[in-house]
Amino acid sequence: MNNPLYIYNTLTRKKEQFIPLHKGKVGMYVCGPTVYGDAHLGHARPAITFDILFRWLKYLGYKVRYVRNITDVGHLENDSDEGDDKIAKKARLEEIEPMEVVQYYTLRYQKAMEMLNVLPPSIEPHASGHIVEQMEFVQKILDAGFAYESNGSVYFDVEKYNKEHHYGKLSGRNIDELLENTRQLDGQSEKRKSVDFALWKKASPEHIMRWKSKWSDGFPGWHLECSAMGTKYLGETFDIHGGGMDLMFPHHECEIAQSTAALGHESVKYWVHNNMITINGQKMGKSLGNFITLEEFFTGNHKLLTQAFSPMTIRFFILQAHYRSTLDFSSDALVASQKGLERLIEAYERLQKITSANETNVEVSGLRKRCEDAMNDDLNTPIVISHLFDAAKAINTIYDGNGKISAEDLEELKSVFNLYLLDILGLKTEQENSQTSESYKKAVDLLLNMRLEAKQNKDWVLSDKIRNELTSYGFNIKDTKEGFEWSL
Ligand code: ZN
Repeated sequence: MNNPLYIYNTLTRKKEQFIPLHKGKVGMYVCGPTVYGDAHLGHARPAITFDILFRWLKYLGYKVRYVRNITDVGHLENDSDEGDDKIAKKARLEEIEPMEVVQYYTLRYQKAMEMLNVLPPSIEPHASGHIVEQMEFVQKILDAGFAYESNGSVYFDVEKYNKEHHYGKLSGRNIDELLENTRQLDGQSEKRKSVDFALWKKASPEHIMRWKSKWSDGFPGWHLECSAMGTKYLGETFDIHGGGMDLMFPHHECEIAQSTAALGHESVKYWVHNNMITINGQKMGKSLGNFITLEEFFTGNHKLLTQAFSPMTIRFFILQAHYRSTLDFSSDALVASQKGLERLIEAYERLQKITSANETNVEVSGLRKRCEDAMNDDLNTPIVISHLFDAAKAINTIYDGNGKISAEDLEELKSVFNLYLLDILGLKTEQENSQTSESYKKAVDLLLNMRLEAKQNKDWVLSDKIRNELTSYGFNIKDTKEGFEWSL
């Protein structure tokens, strides 16, 4: 009997058994990128963390609807309620349309995620495509009495909300302190309290990203999109909401307040947060000059990098730490990850070549259960990796002729090793790609040889069928003296 899945819930601050709201189905929402620049290491960690959770939930047999949004409006500089929209600012600098910025960086983000072997989410909604839903959400909060209009903008009334609910429950911030510290600002701003946050902002004349609403020509507040789109695609209550720890406050705290205010109840059962990446012990930041984009990792083109690192090395490096631990990047740490991954890939390749004996005299038993238990213990990927290293040791012993494995044990070892390395951890090998293309070439050759045989037997129906079908899949087939040539 296997252990059930336990996951750490940031809201309750403990590991909880995962029990979905609807039998067999899971709804998961993860805050995606604000698309105004290239994806960097800080984007890779949440994407990979929730990719692992997505893969694991599917492996456990759940039907998962995974929503990861694209923020393309309303995210202002310094995550605040004032100042420039990050996308609009980039558009102005580049002298292009904001939606050109969005298109360009969305495609680049998706490409980088594909290289990291991050599976695409089920739905990837854009905030700018859900303005109507966001306006409706604002109206619900106004109707419930937890927001107020001020000079064409609408703000969330944190103090009022906190009288009936608990603002700060996720992040542990003390709201009384926040209110106390902000009292002297009263009367100097549209807001009643500086802790209040924008649901809708009236656009200044020079602000280009704007929509008509009953309150003003303006745009939605940053936190609103996730409440509106989460509700739209996953319902009023759903299982998992994820993101980086840096989003806990204010973003996720505000989301909880918005949803509770609008719907009258909490939306999310399990809040899951990945920890941050530091670079040589320092926080990542543009001003610190240590923002390394994923492309710079892949090319090695950055002063902090001693060499290029493949997408799989980056993925492996991230998975070698538990998602709730901090992870410190350095070139040396990445070199060590690269070597570790090479060892596992080498073992994987050797495993495919090993032949069985009539007995087993290496330690390979219980691997499947140990890996599964580690995953079920709050996605403990570093432990899974250590089990794979143990298995690699056994594989090398057999490969070097110093150990034996029975046919049955070999089959099980291949099945578990391949499952965890490739499908669950999502690590790919170059070898695997070339093996795939090699197998594919052989399969096409086989079909065309069967066609030759059919022709020799004057079985024109079969020979035409093979030719016509392959042509319809896009193959060019040429008959030659020797037999055939083909291309795609
Ligand atoms: Zn969000």
